[in-house]
Amino acid sequence: MKLCSRIKTILSLAAVTLALFCGAAFGEVNIQYPASAGEGNPFAVRITSSEPLTGVSAKWQGWTIPLDITVWNGRYIAIGLFGAQSGKVKTGTYPMMLTLQSNGKKREIKLSIKITPVKYKEDRLTLPESMVTPPAAVLERIARERKAAGAALATLSLERNWGLPLIRPVDGIVTSPYGRRRILNGKPRTPHGGMDLRATTGTPVKAALSGRVVLTGDHYYAGKSIYIDSGGGVITQYFHLDSIEVKDGDIVKMGAIIAKSGQSGRVTGPHLHFGLCLSGQQVNPEPIFTKNLADLLEKTALAKVEF
Ligand SMILES: [Zn+2]
Repeated sequence: MKLCSRIKTILSLAAVTLALFCGAAFGEVNIQYPASAGEGNPFAVRITSSEPLTGVSAKWQGWTIPLDITVWNGRYIAIGLFGAQSGKVKTGTYPMMLTLQSNGKKREIKLSIKITPVKYKEDRLTLPESMVTPPAAVLERIARERKAAGAALATLSLERNWGLPLIRPVDGIVTSPYGRRRILNGKPRTPHGGMDLRATTGTPVKAALSGRVVLTGDHYYAGKSIYIDSGGGVITQYFHLDSIEVKDGDIVKMGAIIAKSGQSGRVTGPHLHFGLCLSGQQVNPEPIFTKNLADLLEKTALAKVEF
């Protein structure tokens, strides 16, 4: 037994030595990422390796997101979709830390991404104070719903179900774009976290991406709402619905009818509020209604690392 375990030790030492020796000639990993991105604009990062990858994660804006690995043409590929929320992340240069694992080895790569300013719409409104401040009786409800929404947006499932471009959930025009900042009674409010699309009550609403329903509810501000997780930190939101046609845990396909639009919650008229949240950052969905992944990866920087 003793001899046997000694042989095993020698063998495993030999394996480690061999792995270390081979390490020098290990495969190359290509990383495509944007050197700069406008605030609120979604961007993609793609990692391509000729050697087997067993784990990839990206740390961005305080979140660590595990990325799904697919094998295509003998190459190991991981793709992430990210952004920096307008009004939440200041413009400037931020690090993205990538952690790659292969055959028991770990490699960390630091990318630098510059978030540049984007001019979003701004309008000033004067409204009676009673319309701006919610009544005290609903504060507890608002806090509870904010917590539930926060938990839904923090879903980090590994399997990547998103693909680009997104499907437009309704055909209507944009009545209020992403990033619009309202200055109510002289006080700036949080910029618009999604986009409003014109839709009369009863218009069928399609899922912009495939995924799993992680939250449905009837919230004070958002009204009847749906949150769908598409993996890799990608969550889509559908607010102010008239009726919800899915339930928590349902798996939906891109383009499937999930609801009828309406005017539930705190709104002045019927429309669909559509939101795209990438690892806790509400971003502008508009650019990726037309751009596919190849378009997003065009003009990106390239980092090459060796394992
Ligand atoms: Zn809205």
